[in-house]
Amino acid sequence: MNTNDLKQAIRGTVTTRADAGYETVRQGLLWNGRKPDRFPEIVVRAKDAADVRTAVKFAAATGRRVSPRGGGHQFSGIALQDCVVIDLSQMNALSIDADARIARAQPTVTNGKLAAALAEHGLAFPTGHCASVPLSGYLLGGGFGWNAGAWGIACHNVDSVEVVLADGSLVNASETENPEIFWAVRGAGPEFFGVVTEYRLRLHDLPRAIRTSMWTYEIDEIGAVERWMSRAMTRVPRNVEFTAAMSSAPPPLAGHATKTVAGVATIFAASEEEADETLSIIAEDAPEGALDVQLGMETPFEVLYLITGQFYPEGRRYAVDTNWSADPSALLTRMAEAVKDAPSPESYAIGVVLPPMDGETMPDTAFSMAGPAFGSAYAIWQDDGDDAANFAWLRGMSADIAPISMGHYIGEADLDLAERSPNSFAAPAYERLLHLQRKYDPTGLFYRPGQVAEPMRRVS
Ligand SMILES: Cc1cc2nc3c(=O)[nH]c(=O)nc-3n(C[C@H](O)[C@H](O)[C@H](O)COP(=O)(O)OP(=O)(O)OC[C@H]3O[C@@H](n4cnc5c(N)ncnc54)[C@H](O)[C@@H]3O)c2cc1C
Repeated sequence: MNTNDLKQAIRGTVTTRADAGYETVRQGLLWNGRKPDRFPEIVVRAKDAADVRTAVKFAAATGRRVSPRGGGHQFSGIALQDCVVIDLSQMNALSIDADARIARAQPTVTNGKLAAALAEHGLAFPTGHCASVPLSGYLLGGGFGWNAGAWGIACHNVDSVEVVLADGSLVNASETENPEIFWAVRGAGPEFFGVVTEYRLRLHDLPRAIRTSMWTYEIDEIGAVERWMSRAMTRVPRNVEFTAAMSSAPPPLAGHATKTVAGVATIFAASEEEADETLSIIAEDAPEGALDVQLGMETPFEVLYLITGQFYPEGRRYAVDTNWSADPSALLTRMAEAVKDAPSPESYAIGVVLPPMDGETMPDTAFSMAGPAFGSAYAIWQDDGDDAANFAWLRGMSADIAPISMGHYIGEADLDLAERSPNSFAAPAYERLLHLQRKYDPTGLFYRPGQVAEPMRRVS
């Protein structure tokens, strides 16, 4: 089969470097305004799982490598490789069986679309924090979404998946069917050895009273804010998400401070009474001296998504890194110190204190790296001439955190650094993943972090 045969066989579209519109297609593969200088040889925009199988078989038969692309939201742009990119953006069908409490979602159903559709049935899922991000790579990397304290990491709510493997076969995987593929698909992220063409999701009741409260302080109050957050998380139910957002002061507070930290508590309660009770526990310990306080705002999912959307403007250049730590105090303090020195005023960092595990253990899946506190830092800027300064800032912060870092979250790690991917897994889980890669993708068809996407063997 040559490229022309492929064009005939695919129900979606095929774009090669020689085709008009190639550069538009290439640029459109990544959400980040910062596009690496990598040029896919062929972009297959798949219409269905059959197209994915055809593209995988074509690549294998012609000695090319494959890079699956969901929504192109991974901040380091890893989906953009110089090989056959299988673009899943057209595979975004969703169906909900409210009685069985199961949703079937093709990979590029977005968080926003899923949350809105589920809400109509009084149901919910731990969707990610931003509406435009698709399930595709979000669930594959684990998925640190809304109400994670109560609902857990999102991939632990996946019931089963449909996957195209390196030999072009289409298989299902669940606890009972192909269990080792199912183990890997929950957390492997770009280390996975197949293409996910459908997720089946276990659903939750929609919390009827989602309330957000926010206390904003001058950033040097980070120590007091962290102590308050850490204590609160031992006293409130697990359905509270408590985040410290460290950033430039919002415009109304700019006269009072240059940089601020906001303690943002979102309560996912079943009733008003429950929300009020939890809020009173949090509020009674809030440090003195807040520059601004907003209590008990009604924030159903669509409002949460409107709020978070403002923090990820499209078209900007982004670089991101994450760290898990057992030392929330040091983690948040070091991030706050870095935010004070950010070269771009748009850059910010968030620190999340998780509820205590109370002796519970995480399910055994590839998602295996987690700790009591999580930090994510976002360098956001506009001009390519500022790339070096912003990367230096982000990596300087991570270097400062390194002594207290347990590891990284692959969904938002700085994957241009070779050790980020291995260090996003517990050591035994990473070993198992490497073993499964050798078993299910022995020729290394699928591009993986840290590899140079050279064609394996060009036949035509
Ligand atoms: C604005 C924004 C907000 C975010 N918020 C959150 C958040 O709240 N919580 C969170 O956990 N993460 C969050 N993320 C991170 C996000 O979940 C990951 O970057 C994820 O990879 C995005 O999915 P994608 O399909 O767009 O990935 P892509 O960039 O398309 O793909 C990245 C890699 O994942 C693999 N991949 C993707 N889809 C498939 C598939 N179907 N089959 C096989 N391999 C595949 C490929 O190896 C690919 O190279 C956010 C990202 C952005 C940009």
